[in-house]
Amino acid sequence: MEAVDVCVVGGGPAGAAMALRLAELGRSVCLVEKTFHAAKPSYLESLTPGVLAQLDYLGLGGVLAVAGARAASKTELRWGGPWERRPAAAGGCLVNRSRLDEILLDAAVARSVRVFRPATLLARDRQDEGGWSLACGTQDKIIRFRAAILVDATGRAGAVLKRRRRLGARLLALSAPWRGGALPASMIVEAGVAGWLWAASVPNGPTIAQLFVDPRDVTGPGSGLAERYFKRICEFETFQWLGAPDLTAGVVARDATAFLDLACADPDHPDALKIGDAGLALDPISSSGVQAALQSGLQSAIVANTVLTRPATARCWTRRAYARSLRALLDAEMGGDDARDEFVVFLLGQA
Ligand SMILES: Cc1cc2nc3c(=O)[nH]c(=O)nc-3n(C[C@H](O)[C@H](O)[C@H](O)COP(=O)(O)OP(=O)(O)OC[C@H]3O[C@@H](n4cnc5c(N)ncnc54)[C@H](O)[C@@H]3O)c2cc1C
Repeated sequence: MEAVDVCVVGGGPAGAAMALRLAELGRSVCLVEKTFHAAKPSYLESLTPGVLAQLDYLGLGGVLAVAGARAASKTELRWGGPWERRPAAAGGCLVNRSRLDEILLDAAVARSVRVFRPATLLARDRQDEGGWSLACGTQDKIIRFRAAILVDATGRAGAVLKRRRRLGARLLALSAPWRGGALPASMIVEAGVAGWLWAASVPNGPTIAQLFVDPRDVTGPGSGLAERYFKRICEFETFQWLGAPDLTAGVVARDATAFLDLACADPDHPDALKIGDAGLALDPISSSGVQAALQSGLQSAIVANTVLTRPATARCWTRRAYARSLRALLDAEMGGDDARDEFVVFLLGQA
């Protein structure tokens, strides 16, 4: 049976970054991604300036241009008061995420990461002597192999070992493309009575209007999701700039609730890691999910490499790194230092 150092399940930014970095460190890596090339849904996302530095670090600074990213110019913001126009941070951009993800996976293949796609992990068995025995199903065969470390990078789907805690209210994102409108800035953020709206457009492309609401407000008996989306969107001032909806594309719903997965780094089992959104999904209003996912992939590559190189010190190391990352990440999510520290102590007690 073939053996690799690390098997990463999920080929979004977190999984791709971890696989790329591990390959650079000389580790044998395979990556299992469930979607076909080009079959991934296409989302327009706004990237924070740090993404460019992270890609540069991986020697992939040029990929944003190849993915057709456009520099974000300004944000028009209305958060309960009058409209404010804010200049974009230098280096921020808007990008088609599926295009960026494809390019990162192509780069991983070019750096000797073995990518199985479309493929899913069919079975995983932790071995008494350490590591995993895995079975991965591709279109035409089942591949069995061993991996010292198994990584869940499956995003919100969270395919492996879920122990989730919500970090805020439930949130559903409904988005649809609009044509013919003209936004006054490259991005709009507007708060409404029971939700908020994010709209962005790129030259020669549609405007994407994304509504964030409590799922209970748009589900249940009565009219369908699309009808409720269009009804809601008329309540926002942004509606005046949207043009006409592209009814052929339909309305897409995505869960956007922020959560932490307590299994994201278990000091007693350093042979299993959860990275990116599979471990911690931020509220999308931060617009920093991709940067956080890349960061988590890069850091976890170091964790995995340490676990493989010096297993004896790994347990202590992962525990400290876990606490440190939690503190940093929860800074953004929780109020005062006391509440945050109490939560970290609670989580460490659970781990
Ligand atoms: C509505 C919404 C809007 C957002 N807007 C922004 C934004 O503007 N800017 C920003 O920076 N972030 C934004 N985010 C967050 C951002 O999308 C995520 O943080 C980021 O994609 C996380 O990357 P990831 O690699 O962890 O997971 P993902 O990007 O979700 O990648 C997971 C990968 O795993 C694959 N997969 C899933 N299940 C399996 C399985 N069982 N087997 C194999 N493969 C599997 C998927 O196909 C996918 O390729 C937004 C999120 C939401 C929900």
